[in-house]
Amino acid sequence: EPDDKISSKNALVFSQSGINLPERSYYLDQDDKAKKIRSQYQAYISKIFALAGDSANGAKYASDILKLETALAQSHFTPVEQRDPQKNYNKFAVSDFQKQVPNIDFKSVLSKLGASVDTIIVRQPKYYVALGNLIKTQPIAIWKEKLKFDALNESAYALTQKFRDARFEFFDKTLSGRQSQTERWKSMVNNADNNLGDLLGQLYSEQYFKPEAKKRMLELVNNLQKVYEQRIKNLDWMSAETKKKALEKLNAFVKKIGYTDKWKKYDDVEIAKNTFFANLQSAQKNAYKEMMAKLGKAVDKSEWFMTPPTVNAYYNPAYNEIVFPAGILQFPFFAFNADDAINYGAIGAVIGHEMTHGFDDQGRQYDAVGNLKEWWTKDDAAKFKTKADKVEQFYSKFALLDNQHVNGALTLGENLADIGGLNIAFDAFKLTEQGKENKKIDGFTPDQRFFLSFAQVWRIKNRDERMRMRLKADPHSPEMFRVNGPVYNMEAFYKAFNVPATAKMYIAPENRLGVW
Ligand SMILES: [Zn+2]
Repeated sequence: EPDDKISSKNALVFSQSGINLPERSYYLDQDDKAKKIRSQYQAYISKIFALAGDSANGAKYASDILKLETALAQSHFTPVEQRDPQKNYNKFAVSDFQKQVPNIDFKSVLSKLGASVDTIIVRQPKYYVALGNLIKTQPIAIWKEKLKFDALNESAYALTQKFRDARFEFFDKTLSGRQSQTERWKSMVNNADNNLGDLLGQLYSEQYFKPEAKKRMLELVNNLQKVYEQRIKNLDWMSAETKKKALEKLNAFVKKIGYTDKWKKYDDVEIAKNTFFANLQSAQKNAYKEMMAKLGKAVDKSEWFMTPPTVNAYYNPAYNEIVFPAGILQFPFFAFNADDAINYGAIGAVIGHEMTHGFDDQGRQYDAVGNLKEWWTKDDAAKFKTKADKVEQFYSKFALLDNQHVNGALTLGENLADIGGLNIAFDAFKLTEQGKENKKIDGFTPDQRFFLSFAQVWRIKNRDERMRMRLKADPHSPEMFRVNGPVYNMEAFYKAFNVPATAKMYIAPENRLGVW
């Protein structure tokens, strides 16, 4: 990965690992639901050992493995802690870190990984300290059980139907509430996308992505960027000094739309019709080799981290770039022939969202060239913090299921991006011909169509189990709050639908959120 503080240079990065449940609280919480999930996890571990031919010892192994993973989980950063770039940037000379973790022989580990480096970045040092202690204190037999289980568990999706069923029952059904397994053809398309993404992506792009769409999209991005510039200039809380830097960063955004200019080739991947598992192994080996080859080389900032068919988008702080794969450039996000209200309300809000990630509580800590480096005056940083704290408190009040609250700290970056994104998209929409007129289509005004299109993007259904998991681990708020949060705080929304100040969910102007 790029060294956060020298983003043009690749570094070897060590992160916390070793657990299979979604995050540490699944091991540590003492409520009935958490306990039940852990007992179902143990049953799953036994089942995997039984399927691999050892039915006698599965229950014992399951108990050993759960204990070991619980000890590892205790040393993990929480999902909120993992959002703090400075806290997760710990650079060491290998020889110094070796002293902190005497039970792991780093020289030997690095040589086995094929890495010749003398400095490393450790995201969560206390995890490696704990791991070192456990390697010393836990019997080797338990480590063997754990590694055997991990290998089987990680491969279960590609093994026989019985393994697939077992994995589905626990990870999809128990943890996520899923009722039926993905059809085989969809799994296989996903396998191709995950392992040979650029090959599948070329076929996908040829068929589904038109140059006109790219051109229209670039216009939208540029229009939003201009509006963003104006909004930064108009901010009443930021000094001229910080504004200058913010504008530099905004204007340095790299824009990637559709697909990469540099397709990966996969020459070393061996694929045969009757060797499914070996095909996957070959692709994974190749991906590992590709990753390790980056060490010691400059960061290639033309690389993409999503494949063309992906229905998603991202902001990447180390590259200071906004990226929109071809997959998201279709209805309901984008429709080539739709009126501007529809496109600005949907993909426009997504573009604004990704841009705002460059200035959210994490992104704002990176500068125009992607380095983790302070560029704010102290005073402006403090003002930002006050505003962001209000956003955190506001979203923490949202609740669903049996009064499960949104974690405002975990979702802060996404919520800031949602609020900023919709405001910027709306301002940009108002500069279009349709935005300036008031001509109804299908009985709705342009402004109403803008907000309806925004809401339409987030129509989704979640099983309760999945929602519970997301509230603990997902930095995005549940979709209904991704819609309601931003619009509650927008005058334009109240105006568009003639919402009176007496309405139940009305928020008075002086209490509304706003950063960007
Ligand atoms: Zn986001």
